[in-house]
Amino acid sequence: MTEAAALVPYDEAVSRYEPVIGLETHVELGTRTKMFCGSPAAFGAEPNASVCPVCLGLPGSLPVINKTAIEYTIRIGLALNCSIASWCRFARKNYFYPDMPKDFQISQYDEPLCTDGWLDVMVGESQVRIGIERVHLEEDTGKSLHVGGATGRIHGADYSLVDYNRAGIPLVEVVTKPVPGTGALAPVVARAYVTELRDLLRALDVSDVRMEEGSLRCDVNTSLAPRGSGAWGTRTETKNVNSLRSVERAVRFEIERQAAVLDGGGRVIQETRHFQEDSGTTTPGRSKEEAQDYRYFPEPDLVPVAPSREWVEQLRAALPELPAARRARLQGEWGLSDRDMAALRNAGALDLVAATVSAGAQPAEARNWWLGELSRRANESGIELAALPVTPAQVARVSALVASGELNDKLARLVLDGVLAGEGSPDEIVAARGLAVVSDDAELLAVVDKVIAADPAIADKIRAGKTAAAGALVGAVMKETGGRADAARARELIIERLTPAGS
Ligand SMILES: [Zn+2]
Repeated sequence: MTEAAALVPYDEAVSRYEPVIGLETHVELGTRTKMFCGSPAAFGAEPNASVCPVCLGLPGSLPVINKTAIEYTIRIGLALNCSIASWCRFARKNYFYPDMPKDFQISQYDEPLCTDGWLDVMVGESQVRIGIERVHLEEDTGKSLHVGGATGRIHGADYSLVDYNRAGIPLVEVVTKPVPGTGALAPVVARAYVTELRDLLRALDVSDVRMEEGSLRCDVNTSLAPRGSGAWGTRTETKNVNSLRSVERAVRFEIERQAAVLDGGGRVIQETRHFQEDSGTTTPGRSKEEAQDYRYFPEPDLVPVAPSREWVEQLRAALPELPAARRARLQGEWGLSDRDMAALRNAGALDLVAATVSAGAQPAEARNWWLGELSRRANESGIELAALPVTPAQVARVSALVASGELNDKLARLVLDGVLAGEGSPDEIVAARGLAVVSDDAELLAVVDKVIAADPAIADKIRAGKTAAAGALVGAVMKETGGRADAARARELIIERLTPAGS
């Protein structure tokens, strides 16, 4: 089936329709073992090597709850300002799928562990509060691999393989409340939310939150209603979006597509859709099941989960500094305005600057390097700032060499060239390329005498008191030394040489 990709231009779509977004984020927890058995949960083992009778769903096997997974989920709930259930149960979600060995998934249904919280996210310089509906715990499914087709999808494949290593890995699902009222910013808000959630999970150290490896996956719900109607439209759910940029693009595309459907007098179908990375479009998946299709019932093989209030309060007291609090602290320590701080975050430079300051650089210097020279080079190479092959410690060292006068700005940039080219540490490159500033008077004087002799006309002007003319000779000294001279000292020496009676 092909679908006419009729679209309404984005600005026009959001001028006439009001989007409502919602996000369901799945996070694989970084526990040592799986959710209900002792099989290792690490990524990257040989296919079907990290399995046992429980996670293969063999008859007679019984699950046991992983306490660390419960602890991690409660910590996530607390960090998201949720209420923690004092008693709740797991439920069976019944559906047939080849990569789910038991033919049901142990999940949570009407008794989630954490409910009703929020997460504040920054969009530019303003704050948007995203309501959190629930945080619940379930087990991940295995993975199918379709072999022989052109697209890697099941259609056209010769055969399929199933890897159950992922089956049973603890998976937390964080579900937002519907987010209305963001208008044209809806795609940016969606991205900002996933970014903030990822940073929060990283700070909690409960997951490696690698979107590329699928340890953080996002389903993005989008609906449209005519602006001012007060009604909510039918939503679509774009599944398994696996990068921050794609989250933004998926919402944007759905707004353009749904606006065209509604403009044409049509009806948006409630369905799951797939995001296509290459084209930035979404394509239809299956029509969305209702909860009743899953025939949920309480999991009879597991005892209820009843975390004591004492334990929950201990976990609350032991939460680490969370990203929003850390940002506020750093902003104060570095003396930055809201705008400067937003620029730092947007450039993906916050952690890099923090690490550079920790390595000894002044905050202003660290910020200048990362937002200036290094951002420019990342842009030129088309990569993220954090992917540049230079460490915060190396940037701090270059900054220190400038502060001590051993490098000037121009030489510092040449040293960075060397670091980025993999030639070694800043000190090794200074030595190997001979880049240190020449501030030794004897060495400088030899050059000063040479340039004076080469330009007697200017020398005469300076002798006559026109010291402003010294600039030309300083330029000549810089040229002669390949930019390595200390320009201020060179100027002093030129004037001393030519006005012996003077100052
Ligand atoms: Zn197992």
